[in-house]
Amino acid sequence: MSYERPNIESMSGYVPGEQPARTDVIKLNTNENPYPASSAVAQALAAIRVEDLRRYPSPTAQRFRQLAAAYHGLDSDNILPTNGGDELLRLAITTFAGPGDVVGVAEPSYSLYPVLTDIQDCRLLPVPLLDNWSLPGNVTAILNDAGARLAILVNPHAPTGILMPADSLIEIASNFHGVLLVDEAYVDFVDPDQRYDLAPAIRELDNLLLLRTLSKGYSLAGLRFGYGIGAASLLAPMMFKTRDSYNTDYVSQQLACAAIESVDEARTTWERVRLERGHLAAALEQLGLPCLPSESNFLLAQCRAEQEARSLYEHLKQQGILVRYFDQPRLRDKLRISIGTPEQNEKLLETLIGQTSRAG
Ligand SMILES: *Cc1c(COP(=O)(O)O)cnc(C)c1O
Repeated sequence: MSYERPNIESMSGYVPGEQPARTDVIKLNTNENPYPASSAVAQALAAIRVEDLRRYPSPTAQRFRQLAAAYHGLDSDNILPTNGGDELLRLAITTFAGPGDVVGVAEPSYSLYPVLTDIQDCRLLPVPLLDNWSLPGNVTAILNDAGARLAILVNPHAPTGILMPADSLIEIASNFHGVLLVDEAYVDFVDPDQRYDLAPAIRELDNLLLLRTLSKGYSLAGLRFGYGIGAASLLAPMMFKTRDSYNTDYVSQQLACAAIESVDEARTTWERVRLERGHLAAALEQLGLPCLPSESNFLLAQCRAEQEARSLYEHLKQQGILVRYFDQPRLRDKLRISIGTPEQNEKLLETLIGQTSRAG
């Protein structure tokens, strides 16, 4: 006897990247920042007393909202703190799309999106990316014609790392009849010369929702803290109706506040990751593994064949280096490699050199 709803029974769950208990592996498979969180975060953690946990935390993480609002030049009611960015995805789907409603996603992209739409029993509308990994020019018409209530686009794109210009997203949001969620999990690693900033656009577009997370840019994947940015009217139903009563805990609130207050220290890690991104992409290209132009903290490396991608993945794993292999259409001949420290990247390259020369 099964007690699950039929859509839950028939769905498959999310498969996270490997999180080995061993600490001696070089972990380049789930896009963590290779550098530690700021010293202010360490101090905030050391300052927490067990007595602080006796009471409930601020239900809205109010101090974080104010700090994030100041950082983005917005108001605190434009900020919705969540238990990781993933909670914002779940809140957006359950708040804006009902069972049977259409949710559009680019394909390929973050594999959690279809899992969350399955849970809500939505109809998924995958919009295949073109050969150059950009969206079809008529994406807004595709979404509107299908009656999509919500569309989720990740920018910079995962797993390619390609950045779509802010203007293109503003154009889509302006003409789309549903909510456009732009997942900006990797936005901190975008080169400042790109002048990419969608946050001001939420003042004009009441259907534009941005996802931010402290997991990648702020080196706090273990903390589980993210936030949404949007018009107060867009955030209100999630803020006051659909989120858990205390969705972010006291410890995470304290550390998240310290992290955003010391953003300048995190920013130095973003610069280092960008520098290494350039070096690693050039070195991989020399090894016959060219990468797409990434504005993120990972590279998608093109192998000569599916067989080569799989065997390089296995060989690296045997040597204690984890990268991500996606057994999915269009990705089976590629490896997604998170940018590590210079030493980790060097080790990766040394391990690959032996392999690709033997293969080639
Ligand atoms: C990491 C990531 C998120 C959010 O992750 P959290 O750890 O839950 O904040 C969202 N979207 C994409 C594409 C990601 O890679």
